Amino acid sequence: MPTNQIQLIRDRIRDVPDFPKPGILFKDITPLLADPQALRAAAEALAAPYRDSRIDLVVGIEARGFIFGTPVAGLLDVGFVPIRKPGKLPWETRSVSYDLEYGSDALEIHTDAVAEGERVLVVDDLLATGGTSRAACDLLAGMGAEIVEVAVLIELEFLKGRQRLAPFEARSILKF
Ligand code: AMP
Repeated sequence: MPTNQIQLIRDRIRDVPDFPKPGILFKDITPLLADPQALRAAAEALAAPYRDSRIDLVVGIEARGFIFGTPVAGLLDVGFVPIRKPGKLPWETRSVSYDLEYGSDALEIHTDAVAEGERVLVVDDLLATGGTSRAACDLLAGMGAEIVEVAVLIELEFLKGRQRLAPFEARSILKF
């Protein structure tokens, strides 16, 4: 990916201090989504490393993982599977719960969404503490999927999400 494309993506991410609570610097991707060139560049940057990886399907994590995961699936010519917050998926589900700073949360997937041995690429917008991506990988691994990698647009390196994700691997386009 040419550096000017990466720079364009970087330029379209807006920092919003103290959202959703004091001390959090929120990476707002809405300026990027509104810019057709930046949006295309982001999807291409996410998909490009996996062109020859024999990916069977892309899994996106609600909600911003859907925004990027779907065009990435299109570029890789594979299907898309959503992982959602509890109670949103209509069919039979399998779920995983994970710890947050305070309390816990859960993610769900349809039981028929992934077959044993399928090679999946997990997509989300941002890797922070890694808790969300890790939970998604655990859910998929429990179904017998092979997790090729977690692809994110933005990585907040100081939160050490990679450590939490290990042994699953992550790849990010922009590091902060
Ligand atoms: P984590 O489980 O800590 O890796 O958090 C990842 C999820 O929270 C991602 O799906 C992001 O959408 C969201 N998130 C966490 N921190 C931020 C941030 N600083 N800016 C924007 N989104 C964030």
